[in-house]
Amino acid sequence: MTINLFEQMKGDGHEQVLFCSDPASGLQAMIAIHDTRLGPALGGCRMWPYPSFEAALSDVLQLSKAMTYKAAISGLPLGGGKSVIWGDPKKEKTPERLTAFARHVATLRGRYLVAEDVGIGLDDIEQIRKITPYVAGYSLEEGGSGDPSPATAYGVFCGMRACLQEVSGEDSFEGKRVAIQGIGKVGYALAALLHQEGVRLYVSDMDPERVAMASRDFGADPLLGHEIYRVDCDIYAPCALGGSINERTIPRLSCRIVAGAANNQLERPEVAAMLDAAHILYAPDYVINAGGLINIAEELTEYSKEKAYRKIAKIQPRLGNVFSLAKKASITSAEAANRLAVKRLEAGGNE
Ligand code: NAD
Repeated sequence: MTINLFEQMKGDGHEQVLFCSDPASGLQAMIAIHDTRLGPALGGCRMWPYPSFEAALSDVLQLSKAMTYKAAISGLPLGGGKSVIWGDPKKEKTPERLTAFARHVATLRGRYLVAEDVGIGLDDIEQIRKITPYVAGYSLEEGGSGDPSPATAYGVFCGMRACLQEVSGEDSFEGKRVAIQGIGKVGYALAALLHQEGVRLYVSDMDPERVAMASRDFGADPLLGHEIYRVDCDIYAPCALGGSINERTIPRLSCRIVAGAANNQLERPEVAAMLDAAHILYAPDYVINAGGLINIAEELTEYSKEKAYRKIAKIQPRLGNVFSLAKKASITSAEAANRLAVKRLEAGGNE
């Protein structure tokens, strides 16, 4: 296992993986630092009841690499990292475990800055910040940028406009239908923005209460589990966990565009070509979901929401550039985004 892990780190370019244990509290966590060439590795902490050690490791490795690419393509002075706490956030998130996790973050002395992600909210981030200053996305009251989810949702909303422009020549939401998988912090905020534009919404979530909320607040049509893939719509927005775009789901999709907030939406890189073959435009996840990171990065100077949101709106032209390169070079949009991100990384942030 150890040798394979080193091979994998070498192949994907990871600098460091920290395995964190605290027997007293039961903490089992991993912190992956992918690349710090452009700045400290910033990335959320995800708490999830992974089925195995390998599943948790695979997630933290993939997510941390995507953070490097996200920061690079978004023009930020940040590197990529991510952490996972292995456990069910609803049952196993104790103050003792968060404290033990924070102590491990502190040992990295700022090489990794932790923010929130699935299963970890603003209250948890505030608790971690009591132990270590190496925290990003802390509360507005403390001078931070607060919950990044509304900013992420706004970025996805702007990115959807770029997609509509690409497929129809117009960036208007008029008469459009959007199917959102996952009505969590981002999915709900995105639904609110789309509802204001008069978009017809379809929603699904493992939690029936979240679906009921979206139906009540935005008149969204509730769908059960896999029905979300089949619904006839303009945009399918994955806003739950990763991997929802794969060989099994692509043949079922009845949309023109895949554009959502989830990280690592493609189960394998190769499925990007399958989307192209099915004439479905794909907004590369780490480009369209960078709003939260762009918002958090403003904390590094003095946080201003107006300034942050002006920068987030640039996701629309940035995605336009990705689509242009994809057409020019006859490559998938995913490959085009990778090329642009790697170009900036290799230029040390000067591209
Ligand atoms: P969240 O935990 O608030 O919401 C996720 C929602 O998805 C939950 O309501 C959950 O019940 C639901 N869900 C999980 N699996 C599902 C499934 N198979 N089908 C339907 N629903 C399912 O998380 P969030 O902060 O809204 O993040 C959503 C996604 O966006 C994640 O992949 C996250 O990594 C990514 N993301 C979030 C941010 C941010 O600012 N919060 C930034 C970038 C990327």
